[in-house]
Amino acid sequence: MKNSVGETTLAKGADAETSVQPPHVLTRSRLDVRDQFPIFAIHPNLVYLDSAATSQKPQRVIDRLARFYAGENANIHRGVYALSAEATATYDSARAAVARFIGAALPDEVIFTRGTTESINLVAQSWGRSVVKPGDEIVVTEMEHHSNWVPWQMLADSTGAVLRMAPVTEAGELDMSAMARLVTPRTRLVAVTHLSNVLGTINPVRRITDLAHAAGALVLVDGAQSVAHGAVDVRDLGCDFFAFSGHKLFGPTGIGVLYGREALLEEMPPWQGGGGMIGTVALDGITWAEVPMKFEAGTPAVADAVALAEAIAFVESVGAEAIVTHEAELLSLATERLSAIPGVRLIGTAAHRASVISFTLEGVHPHDLGTVLDEAGIAIRAGHHCAQPLMRRFGLAATARASFSVYNTPDDVEALGRGIERARALFS
Ligand code: PLP
Repeated sequence: MKNSVGETTLAKGADAETSVQPPHVLTRSRLDVRDQFPIFAIHPNLVYLDSAATSQKPQRVIDRLARFYAGENANIHRGVYALSAEATATYDSARAAVARFIGAALPDEVIFTRGTTESINLVAQSWGRSVVKPGDEIVVTEMEHHSNWVPWQMLADSTGAVLRMAPVTEAGELDMSAMARLVTPRTRLVAVTHLSNVLGTINPVRRITDLAHAAGALVLVDGAQSVAHGAVDVRDLGCDFFAFSGHKLFGPTGIGVLYGREALLEEMPPWQGGGGMIGTVALDGITWAEVPMKFEAGTPAVADAVALAEAIAFVESVGAEAIVTHEAELLSLATERLSAIPGVRLIGTAAHRASVISFTLEGVHPHDLGTVLDEAGIAIRAGHHCAQPLMRRFGLAATARASFSVYNTPDDVEALGRGIERARALFS
């Protein structure tokens, strides 16, 4: 099923045709999940429009975390007693839940990390340092979050490789003809975001993976923004690596995921040393543990991984289609409402986008706008959103950004519209 701004599944990015449904026809198919998020009971006037930064947590995730610490807590893998064996089994089943959720072929293709940033650094340090040579090229896009830019620039600096950038059009879409020209037999990796945290653009990831693979390059997809906003299937995407953070997916902070194709992970050296990631240790040499343990040195975030599996169960109980439909309606409504306010400029009007709307208000700095909105209990983000190359592209230092999730309502959009009008009146 398709809708006016996104697609039910994000699996193939923006490859599907655009719907003809006019954006102002809203069915108001509200999800009935807001009551599951205690933050809205504790802060009844909160209009939370910053889910792209971090999502709020459903009670069941908070409870799961507490339940683990209250009655199941033990360190994993090294224990010979029942509690440790059970904690190990629970941790392993969390890995299997993640694998199922993103369509990985095997649980062992899922490595637990601290988040998207750490997942990308893992690939840059491990795969990058062992494979990338002087003169090789890494392609990023102009809309990348710094997390999917800086590790590659650091890698290029340390290996003598060259960082290339695929540009973004005025509408906030990836310039695919430029991308096609940039990807050559010199390219070792294309690093691309699935869903832009500034523009909301859903990138045509399947086309990019086909292009890159034809040139012999690998593809890493930054899924930090996409996992919570529609179904993701890493095998449909055809990507080699996929990274995301638990905290943007209704789970805890401090836990994230790197998906990697098994054959690649087998070949990659460990990137951090310590307990849990070795086979044998002796003065004359060390052997490594099997994948995924090879990449999980030290005690992992066991409780957080277990709570992430609970967050996934929450998402599955709502359903990808319902999430996409709900958020598409909110985004359509917001696009319409904000476009009608004089002085508002929308940044990012791609045909395929989801959950995020960035804008500027003439004569009002985004930080001032954020402050005025905060006075009315409306939480948005203002700044460069860790995407300075993209800000430069649009000739801006900062934007205001509202982002939507399952618990937002049309009333939240209306509150945002009114708040912007109030700021406009105050600063005119
Ligand atoms: N990539 C994108 C597109 C993001 O939006 C973010 C966070 O906002 C990140 C990466 C980094 O995520 P984390 O800080 O959870 O590692």
